[in-house]
Amino acid sequence: MSKNTDELFKNVIAHAKEYGFVFPSSEIYDGLSAVYDYGQFGSELKNNLKTYWWKAMVQMHENIVGIDSAIFMHPKIWKASGHVDGFSDPMIDNKDSNKRYRADQLLEDKIARYDKDGKTDKAEALQIAMDEALKNEDLPRLRELIIEHEIADPVSGTRNWTDVRQFNLMFSTQMGAIADDADLIYLRPETAQGIFVNYLNVQKSGRMKIPFGIAQIGKAFRNEVIARQFIIRMREFEQMEMQFFVRPGTEMEWYKQWKETRLQWHLALGTDEAKYRFHDHVKLAHYANAAVDIEYDFPFGFKEVEGIHSRTDFDLSQHQKFSGKKMQYFDPELDADGKPYGNYIPYVIETSIGLDRMFLLTMINAFDEEDLSTDEKQDSRTVLRLHPCLAPVKAAIFPLIKKDGLPEKAREIMDKLKLDFNLQYEEKDAIGKRYRRQDAIGTPFCITVDHQTLEDNTVTIRHRDTMQQERVAADDLDKIIGKLVSWKNLLS
Ligand code: ATP
Repeated sequence: MSKNTDELFKNVIAHAKEYGFVFPSSEIYDGLSAVYDYGQFGSELKNNLKTYWWKAMVQMHENIVGIDSAIFMHPKIWKASGHVDGFSDPMIDNKDSNKRYRADQLLEDKIARYDKDGKTDKAEALQIAMDEALKNEDLPRLRELIIEHEIADPVSGTRNWTDVRQFNLMFSTQMGAIADDADLIYLRPETAQGIFVNYLNVQKSGRMKIPFGIAQIGKAFRNEVIARQFIIRMREFEQMEMQFFVRPGTEMEWYKQWKETRLQWHLALGTDEAKYRFHDHVKLAHYANAAVDIEYDFPFGFKEVEGIHSRTDFDLSQHQKFSGKKMQYFDPELDADGKPYGNYIPYVIETSIGLDRMFLLTMINAFDEEDLSTDEKQDSRTVLRLHPCLAPVKAAIFPLIKKDGLPEKAREIMDKLKLDFNLQYEEKDAIGKRYRRQDAIGTPFCITVDHQTLEDNTVTIRHRDTMQQERVAADDLDKIIGKLVSWKNLLS
């Protein structure tokens, strides 16, 4: 991270806390590692991101419906899905510092350092060796690579490493009063399985025809070996996932289509296209026949925000095998020979985006420290240039001064609008200070009620980005704000 990007990242984290977006969890008890709470504005922004996703995926697609499945599920589900046996990371401990690391991340950091120092041959060779070891789940080989490449613990500075072991990322707990192994259940590490086990319920009750999708937003839990980079890698986080069920043999077409559709969803927010890239997976998960990440150029480098995976019929077939229940779909449509396609287990394309990573991306992208200095005086402001649809507060209403009936008039205007828009009323401090506070939380419009309002019922609207003001009729505010924060600006 260069000094500037490092500073930007630190400033965003500090801003998120200072202005009520993100707080460390359990802070008064010194925090809980990799767990965060969303504050009064953070939870609004998060909800708006969810709405944007839900509208784009569910409301705008007649063949996609949404569900909300429980976090607790039958433990056999995680056996069938492969998570009990395979959802793990290779970890290694340093014997001097007693710190734990992900073996692959230590190697990736080394590769990045080789690259930075212009040692591209070494970087490539290590990448190939690491990929091979990960593919073969060859844990001793991963340790050998750490030793060969003289990787030291950043804390102790020593190379006194333990063996590499697999560490399962699922959290488990017990259900019921008498705890024994038979009652062991897991906190879901992904929302997808709740969709797979309900796919026939939804298909039958909704009379869905292939191709169709099921979407869901919900919490997922992973006991990450090490958590870094703020809300990028959390132990409790939220996913927005959609499983799209298709006829076998058509999955690659849909895979390509969803890849494009999802990128467009990101770009519609006005983010610079150069900040995004696709990253094809070389090492595919056990269930996938194609997979790509949508990555964003965070201050600490490109990082996955969303994955698009062609999951084949793996999950449904596994659930058929483990539950003994048929997972087949009957397709009455006719093939090229005029015969019905008949019974089959659908193939699945998944789009899976991390809500918290999207939140961070949005904050970083919106964060701006604008220099407003003139020849006469130095000045600056911090402004969150959030899309108006995402802004936590849509408009702030200010009486110019705290007397002469202006507060009453401002409240009267606010009362007419507050059911439709999330508004803030502020009468404390000079108007300039109030503008700055709203800029800092990304409020797109500030409405000021002054003495003229009492005469002709007009107010001023000040626009966050341009700082321009205009005078409008108070009765038109619902239309004006409504138009500027309409989802039609993002989705149509
Ligand atoms: P990574 O390689 O970064 O660990 P992943 O490939 O395990 O991510 P997926 O299983 O594909 O991630 O999950 C889908 C999305 O969920 C990711 O694109 C990411 O945005 C989000 N996600 C995954 N793990 C976490 C986490 N620990 N904290 C926050 N978001 C996460």
